[in-house]
Amino acid sequence: MTLSPLSGMDFMAPSSLAEALAAMVAQPDALPMAGGTDVMVELNFDRRRPPALLDLTSVPELTELSTVDGMVRLGAGVSYTRIISSLGTVLPGLAMASRTVGSPQIRNRGTVGGNLGSASPAGDAHPPLLASDAVVEVASVRGSRDIPIGSFFLGVKRSALEPDELITAVRVPQATGPQQFAKVGTRNAMVIAVCSFALALHPHRRTVGTGIGSAAPTPRRAPDAEAFLAGELDWAGRTPLAGGVATRFGELVAAAASPIDDVRGSAAYRRHALAVLARRTLSWAWHDYRQQRGA
Ligand SMILES: Cc1cc2nc3c(=O)[nH]c(=O)nc-3n(C[C@H](O)[C@H](O)[C@H](O)COP(=O)(O)OP(=O)(O)OC[C@H]3O[C@@H](n4cnc5c(N)ncnc54)[C@H](O)[C@@H]3O)c2cc1C
Repeated sequence: MTLSPLSGMDFMAPSSLAEALAAMVAQPDALPMAGGTDVMVELNFDRRRPPALLDLTSVPELTELSTVDGMVRLGAGVSYTRIISSLGTVLPGLAMASRTVGSPQIRNRGTVGGNLGSASPAGDAHPPLLASDAVVEVASVRGSRDIPIGSFFLGVKRSALEPDELITAVRVPQATGPQQFAKVGTRNAMVIAVCSFALALHPHRRTVGTGIGSAAPTPRRAPDAEAFLAGELDWAGRTPLAGGVATRFGELVAAAASPIDDVRGSAAYRRHALAVLARRTLSWAWHDYRQQRGA
């Protein structure tokens, strides 16, 4: 591992996961850094001044990408650009969300591991991971463990990660049906979501997954909306959506949120927009599902 002083701040660059985990113990105040697109903003604005940075970009285990038995294992250090180019058909919801992140430069550097590490309610990767029942793999010198995505977010920018743990990967079931992601922002790019919504249809088990972003202290699902929709969809016949289903689904998604008023939007607007996003993503996903008949 290289260690160099950087204006009073140590810079550690481990070259294996074992070295990185050992460094988390040797220097507990070190701040892990993957793409640095959140970390560097915090340093530049003097919101954080850690005694050391732990650069994870030379840890090969974190950039692995594999699919085994229908499960995609996405290393924590895989960039959005790679997700877009490699996973568009197997994880369409996450790929759609990745396309909306920042700019090409941010997508080249930014990672899903970093998005989870920041645990912002507005992180764009979170709603599709919730809708797909992803599992977050974390590790420390004590061993590794799995955290279901639904248990990962504890509060605003707080997660279930222990201080000595690193996120190593995310496991996401390969899509078995249509997935959608939609986001409202004040412009089309380089914007934090006012609110966002992900939908995944799971026809093999006739269930529905949802994920709400930027409309509660943490990203969260809309369980009542999921149960309602799963019971209303004509999975076998693929007939058009019955009247009122999309509207009720939108209402239940909006009811699951607990947004606040802030500079990006009012709570009332966020609830309204979420209902619209839920209706829209449902109509797109159901249209896709009907088109796939016999495919
Ligand atoms: C101009 C700009 C536009 C942006 N637009 C968007 C957007 O549209 N949507 C969006 O969601 N985000 C956006 N972001 C935020 C940022 O790009 C994302 O959150 C990104 O996913 C962070 O990834 P990273 O690899 O750069 O994380 P880093 O900045 O390296 O790290 C972020 C946090 O995660 C921790 N961390 C990183 N890797 C690990 C690990 N393996 N284990 C444990 N902790 C870890 C770090 O310690 C830090 O706390 C934007 C940022 C900028 C600067």
